[in-house]
Amino acid sequence: MSEKKELIYEKKTVYEKAGADVVNAAYDYAKGYTRFLDAAKTEREAVTECVRMAEEAGFLPYHFGDALKAGDKRYYNNRGKGIYLFRVGSESINNGIRITAAHLDSPRLDLKQVPVYEESGMCYLKTHYYGGIRKYQWLATPLALHGVVVKQNGEVVTVVIGEKDSDPVMYITDLLPHLAAAENEKPVSKAFQAEKLNILVGSRPVDGEEKDAVKMGVLNYLYENYGIVEEDLLSAELSIVPAAKARDVGLDRSMIGGYGHDDRCCAYPSITALINADDSVHTTMCILVDKEETGSDGVSGMQSRLILDLIGEITKALGGNEPTVRANSKCLSSDVTATFDPAFADVYEHRNSSLIGCGVSMCKFTGSRGKGGTSDASAELVGWVRRCLNEAGVVWQTCELGKTDVGGGGTVAKFLANHNIDTVDLGVGVLSMHAPYELIAKVDLYEAYRAFYAFYLFE
Ligand code: MN
Ligand code: MN
Repeated sequence: MSEKKELIYEKKTVYEKAGADVVNAAYDYAKGYTRFLDAAKTEREAVTECVRMAEEAGFLPYHFGDALKAGDKRYYNNRGKGIYLFRVGSESINNGIRITAAHLDSPRLDLKQVPVYEESGMCYLKTHYYGGIRKYQWLATPLALHGVVVKQNGEVVTVVIGEKDSDPVMYITDLLPHLAAAENEKPVSKAFQAEKLNILVGSRPVDGEEKDAVKMGVLNYLYENYGIVEEDLLSAELSIVPAAKARDVGLDRSMIGGYGHDDRCCAYPSITALINADDSVHTTMCILVDKEETGSDGVSGMQSRLILDLIGEITKALGGNEPTVRANSKCLSSDVTATFDPAFADVYEHRNSSLIGCGVSMCKFTGSRGKGGTSDASAELVGWVRRCLNEAGVVWQTCELGKTDVGGGGTVAKFLANHNIDTVDLGVGVLSMHAPYELIAKVDLYEAYRAFYAFYLFE
């Protein structure tokens, strides 16, 4: 008879299993991540930051058709909204590529193309929300404006307002409780409407204007500071994001609060692991894409053909066979999952939930209902990843997003799996997912980094 402790699986925390050195390293690692979060509130800003990190680590831009050899480190910047980094290994490309894939976009409020209007002495910007948000969370809180405006002559004007302490911030008004008796009786889905998510940007009329005097003040500001006229907003991508900075949370500073953990808390470990796994014999790749929050469609999403073009071109340059390369590749799709929250315990199934501090979380499948819309990784792949993580001493757990039939969610995993690439999802548990200020544990973030690093180097 074996010892009981050998027979029984017990989930343990990073604090119990990995010890003080790992926990201290996690706190250190979190500092770099916090800076990354503040510098990268949109996918465009995240790509800029990733390019900077990649170039600092010796990665060069890649162009289709470039010759490649072992040791080459390249990145492909996809229209400034996604980035694919890879390092050529010393072994045959036909052995496959070790891929991690995360996304850089986060839920937010995009400006409509004709956003500016004036009403009751106030100037507003109309928004169209992007991704899954709980609308009430965006009211009565400081917001910032980020994005680009493309002028008719092609000039791209970058806009960031609301991040510096001296900047003004944007704002959406909320109803005062004194007058909310009727609204309080409405279901949340009815009480908060998309067309009411209008950004207040001015209340001072311009002297001598009779109509739209406040709007004129706002347009004057944009023209004087950015050279933008109202028609330029037709060809713009401007987003409203929370103005708050990422901060340590908890008296023990064990957590990080910030906007856009989903999915930067997986993107940052992915890219830092790729950069640091410099001695892998495998060809390694880190994919950071856009548009996950809206279904991964389009030229910058994971469903774009670009991944096939890139693998095809890399394979050709190294004299391999593309179907063989994809069949032998392995991918960790790295997206966040929901951390068990005792305040909302009834939507979780505790035994199969991601628990805070218990390390990086593996979702064998995502989707909803009867595993609808998932690629469901094979037991063989999960077994291989299990061996990889355990041999490296990574603290990890398995999880589902919540109770069966309560809801669900998906990510980019299936789009890679559809290309005949063995893929499983491994990411960080998040509290208050998709809120303007999300929460993660530092040790879980760091175990994601250690997991991706181990994956790039294993076998
Ligand atoms: Mn995500
Ligand atoms: Mn998401």
